[in-house]
Amino acid sequence: MSVASRLASFGVTIFTEMTQLAIEHDAINLGQGFPNWNGADFVKEAAIRSVSEGGNDQYPPSPGIPGLRQAIARRYGPLLGRELDPDTEITVTCGCTEGLAASLLGLVDPGEEVVVFEPFYDAYPVDIALAGAVSKHVAMRPPDFEIDLDELRASVGPKTRAILVNNPHNPTGRVLSTEELQAIADLCLEYDVIAICDEVYEEMTYDTVHQRLATFEGMWDRTLTLSSLGKTFSLTGWKLGWGIGPQSLTAGLRSAHQFLTFTTPTPVQHGAVAAMTAPDTFYEEMRDDYRHKRDLLVYGLKSAGFEPRIPQGTYFLMASHPDAQDDRRFCRDLVTRARVATIPPSVFYHRPELGKGMVRFAFCKDEDLLNEAIERLRRSV
Ligand code: PMP
Ligand code: GLN
Repeated sequence: MSVASRLASFGVTIFTEMTQLAIEHDAINLGQGFPNWNGADFVKEAAIRSVSEGGNDQYPPSPGIPGLRQAIARRYGPLLGRELDPDTEITVTCGCTEGLAASLLGLVDPGEEVVVFEPFYDAYPVDIALAGAVSKHVAMRPPDFEIDLDELRASVGPKTRAILVNNPHNPTGRVLSTEELQAIADLCLEYDVIAICDEVYEEMTYDTVHQRLATFEGMWDRTLTLSSLGKTFSLTGWKLGWGIGPQSLTAGLRSAHQFLTFTTPTPVQHGAVAAMTAPDTFYEEMRDDYRHKRDLLVYGLKSAGFEPRIPQGTYFLMASHPDAQDDRRFCRDLVTRARVATIPPSVFYHRPELGKGMVRFAFCKDEDLLNEAIERLRRSV
């Protein structure tokens, strides 16, 4: 085996595996979360101008072009309830994926502990392992996927350096409650722990409000908030993200970022400047559209024998099925039998048995495709 031992056990990501299967079987891909439409035009046009005008072909500054950091400061200042300093508090990263890796590598020492909720986004345990740190898992259990606050409290101790929070949460679709966020904040303050908050689905909430951990009392100084263009602007292939936090945490993020990627392509950054000026109606329309798709899929899955949990956020939902005890096999079968690709959630657990009996569906697809997928599932499940 040629893969280094610190990575070998993680294998190939489930997204690569299921998308490849979907292509092989000409299946509808409700697995890997990417929309089947093009990204926002006004963002793309700004990137095209950046390429065609010239003068943007050489290295931009490592933390990101000043214009983008200023635009991020203008957009997020009101959301975070403070004036942001683009020079010391904002860093542009290569997607949230790099933001996560750079945060953990730049802020967590080997042997320190990081609290992570399971199910988790698959990169989390890998990034923690790359940092030489130790994952402490806290389960979000069905049917409601609420955080068990006692389990959370028991997971934090003197060795804890960080709590890694994903809100809104992939794959459960949960939006964390005030009580849950306050419990996390209380522990951070009590144990002098930092929070790394992955908020890539920040604009996708339905019938509920997304609250930012960084705005809880005492939390600005100890929270790094990460996000990206991918989900909100349907530009998952652009890999443009950002990290916002106090100078001390930004310094850690930047220290790793400068050696991981150094920077992010300038035209993509110019596109992001335009994205930051999107009017409120852009977000409202996107939310309405996803709420409609969510309801369509929930209703359709019920008619196909699944029991979906209605997500409050993200473009994913979890659904149980009596035959999905071996969820990996069930999902692989579904690709060949129904020609619909999904994700087996047990891969998002440190204790895979906690994820059994369920399937993760993505609903970032147009209505015709969702209807066709539902029809295929009805016929063959
Ligand atoms: N975090 C979560 C929870 C995600 O679902 C994703 C999915 N892409 C990412 C981070 C990665 O974001 P990006 O594509 O911006 O790297
Ligand atoms: N975030 C996407 C999902 O959860 C996948 C990202 C990826 O393919 N790495 O489906």
